Amino acid sequence: MKLPSLYVPSNLQDALARLNANSGARPIAGGTDLLLGVKRGKISCSEMVNLGSLSELRYITQEGNRIRIGALTTIAQIENSDLIARYIPAVTAAASCLGSWQIRTTATLGGNLCNAAPSAEMAPPLIALGAEVRLVSLGGDRTVPLESFFVGPGSTVLRPGEILQEVIIPIPTSEVQTTYLRHSLKRSTDIAVVNVAVALRLSAGKAEDVRLVLGAVAPTPIRARAAESILEGNSPTMATIVRAAEEASKECSPISDLRGSADYRREMVRVYVKRALANWAA
Ligand SMILES: Cc1cc2nc3c(=O)[nH]c(=O)nc-3n(C[C@H](O)[C@H](O)[C@H](O)COP(=O)(O)OP(=O)(O)OC[C@H]3O[C@@H](n4cnc5c(N)ncnc54)[C@H](O)[C@@H]3O)c2cc1C
Repeated sequence: MKLPSLYVPSNLQDALARLNANSGARPIAGGTDLLLGVKRGKISCSEMVNLGSLSELRYITQEGNRIRIGALTTIAQIENSDLIARYIPAVTAAASCLGSWQIRTTATLGGNLCNAAPSAEMAPPLIALGAEVRLVSLGGDRTVPLESFFVGPGSTVLRPGEILQEVIIPIPTSEVQTTYLRHSLKRSTDIAVVNVAVALRLSAGKAEDVRLVLGAVAPTPIRARAAESILEGNSPTMATIVRAAEEASKECSPISDLRGSADYRREMVRVYVKRALANWAA
C-alpha cells in the first residue's frame, strides 16, 4: 500500500492554499480516524495536510456570552477545561466518554465533527446547545449551525478545500439544564450504541426551548422533534417523560450491526431518553 505524503503547513493560509492546489489532499488533525481509514483502504488521498502543526487552531476562550473552541483542541483539553465544565457540562461529559485516555489526548474536536460518524460523541451535546461551526477557505469564511453540518455517514457540508476552524457555543442561561448520556457495549474502547443529549429551560415548572438530540441511531445525529414537542411548554411529569421517550424511539431510524439490532437501539433510545429527562421530573 502506498501511503499518502505528509505536508506540514506553516500557518492556516498555507494549509488552505495547499488543499486548494491539490484536489487529492486531505486535512489530518489527530489522525485517529483518518489513518485507520487510509490503512483499511476506505479513504484514499494522495497527500495529508497536517493541521496538527497549527497551534492557532487550538484554544478554548470565552467572548461575551459565547465559548469558542478551536478545531485542533483535543478532546482531553475539552474534558479538562474549567470553563467548559462551568458553563456547558454536557460537553465535558461527552468528552470524557470518548475512547480511551490515549485517544482523547490525540483526537480533536474538529476531527470528531468532520469525520461525521453517526455516533460522533461531541455532536449531540453541541447541537443541543445550539452550536455553530465556522468554516474557512481561501474564498472566505461562513458559519453554519452544527445541526445542518452533517449530511450522512462520513459526509458534511464542507466544500473541497474548506477547513472547520472553530465551534461557537452560546453560553446557556442559568435556567437551562443540560445532560449527556451514552450507551456502549464496552466503556472505554467502543463507540456509542446510542447517545442522547438534552438541553431545556425550566421556567415556572414548565420545560421550554427543548432540544433533544440522538446519535448513532440515524445516518446523522438528529433532533427528536416530535418528542421535543411533547415536552415543550409542559411540566415534565414522569407520564410526559415516558411519552416523549417512546416518541423518540419511533423517530429514529437505526441500523442493525455488530453492536446491536435496530430494535435493540430503539429500545435503548427509549431507556436513555427517559433516564436523561428523569433528572428534571416534576
Ligand atoms: C480506539 C478508538 C476509539 C474511539 N472511540 C471513539 C468514541 O468513543 N467516540 C467517538 O466519537 N469517536 C471515537 N473514536 C474516533 C476518533 O478518535 C474521533 O472521531 C476523533 O475525535 C477524530 O479526531 P482526529 O483529530 O483524530 O481526526 P482525524 O482522524 O485527523 O480526521 C478525521 C476526519 O476529519 C477531517 N478533518 C479533521 N480535522 C478537520 C478540520 N479542522 N477541518 C476539516 N476537516 C478535518 C479529516 O480529513 C478526516 O476526514 C475512536 C477512535 C479509535 C481509534
